[in-house]
Amino acid sequence: MNGQKPTPKGATTLMGGVGPAKARLLASVGLHTLEDLCLLTPTSLTRWPAPLTSGPLPEEGLTRVSGSVLSVKLVRMRGKQSRVTLVLDAGGWEAQASFWNQPWVRERCVVGDQIELCGEARATTKGPELLGPKIGTERDPLPAPGALVGNYPSPKGMSGHVLAGLCKEAVQLVGQQIREPLPEHLLAAGDLPDLPTAVQAAHDPRSGVAFEAARRRLALIPLLALQAQLAARRAGSDKGGGRPVSIGPDLDRELQARLPFQLTPDQSQAWKVLARDLGRRSPMRRILQGDVGTGKTALAALCSFAVVEGGGQVAFLVPTEVLAEQHHMGLAPLLDAVGIGYALLTGRVRGEERRNILRRLANGEVSVLFGTHAIFQKGVEFSRLDLVIIDEQQRFGVGQRSALMEKGKGAHLLLMTATPIPRTLALTVYGDLEVVTLRNGPPGRGDVHTRWVRGQKTRSIIPWLAKRMEAGEQVYWVCPRIGKDGDDTPGAAQARFDKLCEDERVNSFGVELVHGKVPAEERSWRLERFRRGDIGLLVATTVIEVGVDVASATVMVIEQADRLGLAQLHQLRGRVGRGPLESWCLLVGAAAAEERFTMLLQTRDGFEIAEEDLRRRGMGDLAGLRQAGNNLEGLSTLEQDLDLLLLAREACQSDPRLVRELAHGPRPLLAP
Ligand code: ADP
Ligand code: MG
Repeated sequence: MNGQKPTPKGATTLMGGVGPAKARLLASVGLHTLEDLCLLTPTSLTRWPAPLTSGPLPEEGLTRVSGSVLSVKLVRMRGKQSRVTLVLDAGGWEAQASFWNQPWVRERCVVGDQIELCGEARATTKGPELLGPKIGTERDPLPAPGALVGNYPSPKGMSGHVLAGLCKEAVQLVGQQIREPLPEHLLAAGDLPDLPTAVQAAHDPRSGVAFEAARRRLALIPLLALQAQLAARRAGSDKGGGRPVSIGPDLDRELQARLPFQLTPDQSQAWKVLARDLGRRSPMRRILQGDVGTGKTALAALCSFAVVEGGGQVAFLVPTEVLAEQHHMGLAPLLDAVGIGYALLTGRVRGEERRNILRRLANGEVSVLFGTHAIFQKGVEFSRLDLVIIDEQQRFGVGQRSALMEKGKGAHLLLMTATPIPRTLALTVYGDLEVVTLRNGPPGRGDVHTRWVRGQKTRSIIPWLAKRMEAGEQVYWVCPRIGKDGDDTPGAAQARFDKLCEDERVNSFGVELVHGKVPAEERSWRLERFRRGDIGLLVATTVIEVGVDVASATVMVIEQADRLGLAQLHQLRGRVGRGPLESWCLLVGAAAAEERFTMLLQTRDGFEIAEEDLRRRGMGDLAGLRQAGNNLEGLSTLEQDLDLLLLAREACQSDPRLVRELAHGPRPLLAP
């Protein structure tokens, strides 16, 4: 819910029975106004069953019994725990129910009373019982058999039943005053009821179908708000102000000839799109997504060449120092060949060296600046920044990314990502960025076989690793932790490195260690030696997760792979299979992660894996979106409501009035 202040007009305290304490409880879950209550959607529906006509109780399932109270006992335990045990004469057979921490049940149910109970049945050692069932009395009966009742996400300290009652009351008070902002044809297109009808049906459902239609209309509210905000942002950035770079056929040929290879068909296709973007008056806003190894860097290089030809500068931003160094080193020969000035700026570049770079940047001698987020610190001034490239953008937090985008305002923006963005997310969070995709990488890559090595049986793979290195191939050995001195539990990189160094079967090939605490200079030197092939086996933490590109590395061992997430494992696997040789990824880990491993064994398609990851972790957790305070409410059901998302997007694209109305308030307001 949004953090709206309660307005006196719609405050929940206007209802009978809601005092300051209850209002505070409601506010704690974002329910401030009567309107909030109206728009709250039950998470699911329950159909009330008919009472059992004969015993005994089943061992599971929602069950209802009626009869007279035979006995009711309260037992208090240590701490504030208590338990009421109630036995009902249900017409010739006995039904038992337990109520934990509800001592009031003993006052409410007197021996001989005629009551009904309805709740979940479960098996116990003393036979089946109802656990914490609802109680119906003559004065306060349970809903009739067949009645539909919504289950409400109530705050701690308030029962769902009470919240349901408050919602109903709110609907009676103000439900008819809620305005429907959507035009009729859109409602018809989505087969949706209007808001006043939906609000009524959500809290007093007559049928499952009516409830589902109401749920969908209410689920559209946050989606519409988000799409409206995105549309408003897009309209703002469409006002020109970019520096178009025109790339004619001759220049295009010349730029492509600077690369050491021919573009793949996918790269060619993407380059056409990017070149067209760069030629527009409004700045480019593009995400280039492509699985690991599909060749995104070459496109970044082409865009940079083009911008520099046009007299502009490029900021090439990456999440880690390791990757910054790699790009800097990898692209240097191409830039040198045509005399383009460049530099590398990370947090560890200081003093005279840093001042020197800043000076050359400000006077335009440096055209391409590689670096970590240090390149957007205070004091770093470009003379004419025309293109910002953010590689592995998924590694930047949402807040960080938008801050960076702010700095490069007016410049063209190219985001690159190896974590393919599921369509669902692409349409929402990245809704104001257009996506272009590389599906297939350069040809001539060897197969990658993925194997699961159960438990911690790393000993058996060592002779095989020796054989691979004998053949001139190289091995990554990833551990999730660095590990302190003396920590030789599995998964500690330092200890693994020590062990492998002592192992005569592999140490003659050269073993090195990199992790976040190795000083940067030393780390890049070690990586460089691995890249050159001086070292056969590189023990590392996940610092090598992105970007590291060594064609003759054919084996990736991931120790304690069960500690790592699906997307991360996929990224690590992407470090091998980058040359023509056959490669292997060995997942060493416990059965707890079997599902994840199976997924990786089945597919190398990063899109499938990303969608699966999304399903597992939920939309909001992805990329830490929730912490970033984005309005992502309701996105958890996105998978099933994708058509609603499309409807919201279409509505906002075709109707500027709607955008103006919705972009500033996430929900429709009560009519004045
Ligand atoms: P990623 O998309 O993961 O960033 P890279 O840009 O690092 O991929 O490219 C992976 C490897 O493929 C690099 O070694 C690069 O030189 C090579 N490569 C890229 N494009 C081509 C191409 N068109 N033909 C041959 N090799 C290519
Ligand atoms: Mg890359």
